[in-house]
Formats: sequence, C-alpha cells, structure tokens
Amino acid sequence: MKKVHDIIWAPWRMQYVMTATSEAKGECIFCEKPSEQRDVENYIVARLKHTFVVLNIYPYNNGHLMVVPYRHVAWLSQLSEDELYELIFAVRLCEEALNELMHPDGFNMGLNLGRAAGAGIDQHLHIHIVPRWSGDTNFMPVIANTKVIPELLERTYARLRPWFETRGL
Ligand SMILES: [Zn+2]
Repeated sequence: MKKVHDIIWAPWRMQYVMTATSEAKGECIFCEKPSEQRDVENYIVARLKHTFVVLNIYPYNNGHLMVVPYRHVAWLSQLSEDELYELIFAVRLCEEALNELMHPDGFNMGLNLGRAAGAGIDQHLHIHIVPRWSGDTNFMPVIANTKVIPELLERTYARLRPWFETRGL
C-alpha cells in the first residue's frame, strides 16, 4: 500500500494516462484547451492576458487548480518578465479564491520542470495549486473512485468561476 502522502502529491502519476493519450496524438492540452473557446467544458476558470487558470481534471484534492501560460514553453527562463509576473499574480488569485471559497488550512504549490522531475506534460510548464485541509489525507482514496470526480469538478467550477468573473477575468 502506498503512503497517503505519496498519493496526494504525485502529479506525474495522475497525469500519466492523459499525457500518454495526448502525446500519442501529437497534441498539447495546454495549447488546445484555451483555443477551443469551450471554457466551461474545459474547466477553465479564469483568463488573464498571458495566463489561464484551469481545474485539474485529475485532482489530488478538491479545488486543485493549475496556472498555465498560453505560450508553449517548458522553462521559466523562456518566459518574459510580463508573463512571469502574471503567472505568479494568477497563483496569488488562486490562493485568494480558494481561501475565500473553500477555507483550506494550507496549500501545496509547485512546478515540475522536465520529464526527469516528473512533469506529466513536460513541454508546457504549469504551476499546481493544491489546497490542503488538516486531516484531508483520507480524501484521495475517496475521490479515486472515478464516479465522484465529474460531479466534484462541476461543483468546484461552479463555485470558483463567479469569483474570477466578478473580477473581470
Ligand atoms: Zn502547449
């Protein structure tokens, strides 16, 4: 049995299936989703100038967001200063939104750059924002039951989207 800690903060494992499918088709979901103009279906909760915020459809916890630049770059050093600033600005917005709406006790936030570091999608960088609650370690085994996830995603989207919308995002 895996330790609960490993299950919750293991982005590369959870994204593996999705990545393998996308790569096989030569697609990048972080380029395609925002270009489709189907933000509700794609769980895009906010659009900024250089960056968008999207729910992770393979969440490690309820409210798991990702902040992604529109530009298909793998490394922070490839981002302009404007893009860098907006990326971290969007992370702060996520912190505020999640704090107000879901009242977590803490966050795991992070980047996995490069396949060797465990990036599921290693050609298009993205920052994970995972809210944590004291005693939430039993949550993942519950949502690992796939029947629960779509409903959970829609409910989470419905709570988060208006927060950003009222801020013109
Ligand atoms: Zn891309």
